[in-house]
Amino acid sequence: MTIDFRSDTVTKPTPAMREAMMSAQVGDDVFGEDPSVNELERYAAEMFGMEAALFCSSGTMTNQVAIKCHTLPGDEVICDENAHVYQYEGGGIAFNSGASVKLLPGNLGRITADQVSAAINPDDPHRAHSSLVCLENTSNRGGGSCYDFEEIKQICKVCRNNNLKFHLDGARLFNALVEKKEKPRQYGELFDSISVCLSKSLGCPVGSVLLGKKDFIKKARRVRKVFGGGMRQAGFLAAAGIFALKNNINRLSEDHAHARMISESITKKSFVKKVLPVETNIIIFELSDSLSAPALVAKLKEHDILGYAISPNRVRLVVHLDISKEMVEKTVNTFKTL
Ligand SMILES: *Cc1c(COP(=O)(O)O)cnc(C)c1O
Repeated sequence: MTIDFRSDTVTKPTPAMREAMMSAQVGDDVFGEDPSVNELERYAAEMFGMEAALFCSSGTMTNQVAIKCHTLPGDEVICDENAHVYQYEGGGIAFNSGASVKLLPGNLGRITADQVSAAINPDDPHRAHSSLVCLENTSNRGGGSCYDFEEIKQICKVCRNNNLKFHLDGARLFNALVEKKEKPRQYGELFDSISVCLSKSLGCPVGSVLLGKKDFIKKARRVRKVFGGGMRQAGFLAAAGIFALKNNINRLSEDHAHARMISESITKKSFVKKVLPVETNIIIFELSDSLSAPALVAKLKEHDILGYAISPNRVRLVVHLDISKEMVEKTVNTFKTL
């Protein structure tokens, strides 16, 4: 039994999800004729109280399409220094949109309204035009940290007052919603666009959804096509998405409880210097000088436990749908012996 904590992207479709996929109605989605894709887009938009949605092949695509739609070349995007849109999307902001980035030193991936306010360039031809703020909730590099919703409201106000667009990278937004007992519609009211991943702890094999107003999604559909992201009988994948949105959200609290159990066993170890606060399904911990992250990852692998060294002294473990209670117990017991 291999216990794979490398990422929540490693999940495989359950029998029930496979059944939903195999019985999906499909058509050519580039012609707008795939009933399952249309249903997923309608369902997700309704859930967030937003006008429209667009199914894409990845969260990188939904983020990059959104950034392209919200900016012009030479504009500046404001985000946290650890943001996925900047760190892990291949320099896509520059490559796809010709935009520059202003990086803010946030608290575990979270930035504040005051920081955003101070980061907006004056209307001066010397300066790049600040046009977009991107938030990430939960924050991946922040160890699955969640925003305080009041802070998001304040950042939204700053964006409105300064004519900036407001995008949410909500790859793991459902983890935050479940943990903080928030509603999708609260988010739909504040953001110009939201990206959510179906392929992380919701358990789909592929897919992300971009949400926004009708005109924005119309433009996004064009950009997706230009990026090579128009898919044909994508309903087989969309059907997995509908299944996930209907069945796999509430259970995320189990993942969070499992993550806390594991983090408690890690905190006690002498070779661990500190564990980032575990708010959702991600555990990031820093090792003392006696043990490197790759060495610990290798040691865990001897016990069939897979983790990820995100830096020379930091290890990340991510809990997800395919991690059972037994696997959590085995992991806790293994840490006791290390
Ligand atoms: C995983 C992730 C994405 C999207 O990644 P893809 O692998 O392209 O689907 C975007 N943002 C964050 C914060 C992520 O963790």
